[in-house]
Amino acid sequence: MQNQIVHESIEEYRRYNKVLEGNRRYVDKKLAQDENYFRKLAKGQTPKYLLIGCSDSRAPPNEITETDPGDIFIHRNIANLVIPTDLNINCVIQYAVEHLKVHNIIVMGHTCCGGIKAAMKQDSVGGLLDLWLNQIKLVYEKHQELINSFIDEDDQINSLCCMNVREQVLNIWRNPIIQKSWQDGHPVMVHGWLFRVETGFIEELSLEDSIPDEMSKIFKIKFNPSKHQSPNQHQEEEGNAHSPMRARRRFQRMQSRIETEIRHFTINMQNVNEEEIENKIVQDIEQDLQV
Ligand SMILES: [Zn+2]
Repeated sequence: MQNQIVHESIEEYRRYNKVLEGNRRYVDKKLAQDENYFRKLAKGQTPKYLLIGCSDSRAPPNEITETDPGDIFIHRNIANLVIPTDLNINCVIQYAVEHLKVHNIIVMGHTCCGGIKAAMKQDSVGGLLDLWLNQIKLVYEKHQELINSFIDEDDQINSLCCMNVREQVLNIWRNPIIQKSWQDGHPVMVHGWLFRVETGFIEELSLEDSIPDEMSKIFKIKFNPSKHQSPNQHQEEEGNAHSPMRARRRFQRMQSRIETEIRHFTINMQNVNEEEIENKIVQDIEQDLQV
């Protein structure tokens, strides 16, 4: 019996050590490509995206998007939840938005998610985990009619994966840090992705109702005007062409036009280079930006 434990421990250690060996090969490979690679990384980070993903080992954000260290600011937890009172995720969001100045936040769920699967069952998985899964159960309860309309169990799980992403995107829109960013003139866009583990592809989820202007008024926060603003600033802002509110709408409109046009040009104009596409899009939306 004791021999077996020793044998298993040796195996475990060897397996663990392979991870460190992998790191040494990674360093060698990177230095062979660029001998200053790590010195450049050490100078600082300017990531353009915040990605909130699941901790699942099969959904590594950088690898599946072919991005490099420094490109994406990442937060991961079980089933990519954005719980309003979670100190950890709120600090990540605040740092990303207010200090790193990211404009795009992505919530990425994935198919075959163990957290989602567990939340659909009534079996306990342990105290804290049950508490965490309750957040997913709330999403399940809200959308159970749609989810249960699928006959196949995997389809049910994957549809809850989608609905869960949608709900977490809404939680981000409702977040005061995000709402304040619009008022401060730093508009943030929120995207919902579903990573399909079985194909490797990412699907962008359609999230029309998550657009903040259509969000329930109950969650729309009016921040106190600063000392330098008149008490009627909020009312005045609506009519002011340069107000943050107007700027926010303009940015939203521009963002969705850009997305639509890029898709249109990429699909219909195979042999056009990126610069040409960019020029065409700028021409097309110039009018919009004047409004
Ligand atoms: Zn997962």
